[in-house]
Amino acid sequence: MAYYNEHTVLWQDGRILKASEAKTDLYGQSLHYGYAVFEGIRSYRTAAGATKIFKAEEHYHRLRRSAEALNMPYTYDADTLIKATYDILEKNHLQDAYIRPVVYGPANMSFNPNTESFTVIQTWEMAPFLGEKLLKVMTSSFQRPNPKGFKIEAKASGHYVNSILASQEAKGKGFDEALLTDMNGNIAEGPGANMFFEKDGRLFTPEKGNILPGITRATVLEICSELGIPVEEGQFTIRQLRSADAAFFCGTAAEVIGWESIDDTKFPVPWKDTLGRKIQQTYKDLVIEKQDQLTTA
Ligand code: PMP
Repeated sequence: MAYYNEHTVLWQDGRILKASEAKTDLYGQSLHYGYAVFEGIRSYRTAAGATKIFKAEEHYHRLRRSAEALNMPYTYDADTLIKATYDILEKNHLQDAYIRPVVYGPANMSFNPNTESFTVIQTWEMAPFLGEKLLKVMTSSFQRPNPKGFKIEAKASGHYVNSILASQEAKGKGFDEALLTDMNGNIAEGPGANMFFEKDGRLFTPEKGNILPGITRATVLEICSELGIPVEEGQFTIRQLRSADAAFFCGTAAEVIGWESIDDTKFPVPWKDTLGRKIQQTYKDLVIEKQDQLTTA
């Protein structure tokens, strides 16, 4: 996939630069040790034709919290970065886009703290919502990073080696995606998405603590409360998941996407009849600001 061409611009610490000409230092902790934080954000062409970044404040606030969790100097307020993002979306002629801000360090090959950080915002085109194909999911042999070893609630670059290993393992075995457990063997999340499962008209999702608490997960919880769907946050086993009626992933990039199966177990309720499908439709309308928005959104 081509993420940029000779016309594409990005934002780097207050400057608009050509993506093909922007530079970073190769002698730093971010490249060598994965010591960087980032966000994954979506913008959409709304039903009215405008460009709208979905949950922009929430994402830029999490970027700040991630940087602070890793002791990285961080100076930008959310408004500045949101304005910068709309600016490059417009300059790149993008509406349905993926937005990737990254905060990274200067030249420093030691483990000592930095006195400054750099921030870059990149954008590329992302096709509008698909979400119809159901996923064959595999229980990963990899567990999510132990929260006693990492700041698991931070969206830190280094954590994603774990995601890459799990996703590559699942795809190598003919599945579409992985499901990782936590350090106790309970269900945690996908490599880049949170999950919910449905049983007897209720939804269940892993509680915070061993997962990245997703902004989409929070949106799904809001949708559930709006639609009167009961949800339980807790610790759940793969065995419980195998006897579920249905399941789905949710994340900024994945949006809401249903599962066909977990390992060799197919979910019995057709996706069109699930709570997940109802939530998927509501989410889809919400991001493009179609008709009545949630009051809490
Ligand atoms: N878990 C992980 C590990 C992720 O990378 C993501 C994507 N950011 C999520 C969950 C979902 O988070 P969000 O809904 O904020 O995109």
